[in-house]
Amino acid sequence: MIERRKTATALAGTVPIGSGHPLVIQSMTKVMTTDVDRCIRQIRRLTRAGCDLVRIAVPTQPDTKAFAGIVNRTGLSLVADIHFSPERAIEAIEAGAAKIRLNPGNIKEPGDIERIIDCAKMHRIAIRIGVNEASIRDLKADVDQDRRVGLMVQEMSGYVGLFEKRGFTNLVLSVKSADTLRTIEANRAIAKAFGYPIHIGLTHAGLPDDATVPSAVALGTLLAGGIGDTIRVSVAGDPVREVQIAQQILQSLGLYESGSPTLIVCPTCGRCQIDVVKLARQVRRVLKGIHKPIRVAVMGCVVNGPGEAADADVAVCAAKGKGFLYRHGKKIAVVPEEQLLQALQGELRAS
Ligand code: SF4
Repeated sequence: MIERRKTATALAGTVPIGSGHPLVIQSMTKVMTTDVDRCIRQIRRLTRAGCDLVRIAVPTQPDTKAFAGIVNRTGLSLVADIHFSPERAIEAIEAGAAKIRLNPGNIKEPGDIERIIDCAKMHRIAIRIGVNEASIRDLKADVDQDRRVGLMVQEMSGYVGLFEKRGFTNLVLSVKSADTLRTIEANRAIAKAFGYPIHIGLTHAGLPDDATVPSAVALGTLLAGGIGDTIRVSVAGDPVREVQIAQQILQSLGLYESGSPTLIVCPTCGRCQIDVVKLARQVRRVLKGIHKPIRVAVMGCVVNGPGEAADADVAVCAAKGKGFLYRHGKKIAVVPEEQLLQALQGELRAS
């Protein structure tokens, strides 16, 4: 069991973020914010998929106006994504943002940051200070990669000091890089330096097929070490994929209970007695209609299968031309190969 690092709690509207609360899954809308109907449809798809907090880009004044309409129509706690403009930050806060993501690295004047802090404090919203490797002030192309983590942490310290000086502590921190190792190192450093909740993510990770493994390595390593209170997987394409990948990462670490079945399938080898992949695909289709947190195993032989599937609620282990059905590790039936799927379905209905 993972012991999460103790943090303060940040409150983004109705969504608490911190070690005393479940991990918060985030994503972003990827349609024009001014296309309010489309944006709301995407937000609804995200929340149905299990996204706890949705962030919306507000690069222009029409976007912050649209944001206000989206907040009113959805009634959800939403996050506004701010870059470069203190005006957009203040408009978004006044429009009802529950939290803003601020990249102080691209808001140059400390006075502008102070105005945003004071407005956020008045409206009792949360702020994520998001330092990105690409926007570090002192970062030149020739800065040695080993120094970049130190610069990110140094930059974060300066901003945290500025916020604390103005009495603002409803904070979430993030340090992001597109590099897996630097993401891990930088987050470990801020986890050591500050007691605020941490938003973890690997930025610009790529298309879903390319992004899944690096995101799982970076975020999984941090989470396994107790670091991370809210997670966003950044992939190009449908944001629902971001939520699904985040759920899989969290589920693999026992940090998320989906309420859906888990399918265990043996990798197959030279002992395999049936077409395991075909049967597993058929079982996966059947499981889509089941909404219970059961574990189902499809194993290719009776040599290792029963032992490996002992923790499953229902398992099938294949032999030549037949399969053995198991329930909670106990053999309950022998079934001809062509009837295995049907028999398994019967067991699933009964479980
Ligand atoms: S369960 Fe049997 S067939 Fe499947 S990988 Fe293990 S030994 Fe091979």
